[in-house]
Amino acid sequence: MKIQTEVVKGICPTCSEDTMLVGLTNELYRCMNCGTDLHQHVNGKITYLPHITKPKDADPYVKEWKDG
Ligand SMILES: [Zn+2]
Repeated sequence: MKIQTEVVKGICPTCSEDTMLVGLTNELYRCMNCGTDLHQHVNGKITYLPHITKPKDADPYVKEWKDG
């Protein structure tokens, strides 16, 4: 088995840099500049949005801080 890593250029919405984005899955990319995980949205054009997981009954931001 071989793992293919796709690297694309894009504008990161978090750090606003024109930078390299490493594909983690078909839809999930990571900014090489600031390390933020980005969700790729193809809707006429490709845009990248910060990837935020949303637990059902918890504030995602509080959870992020505890994990960090
Ligand atoms: Zn970034």
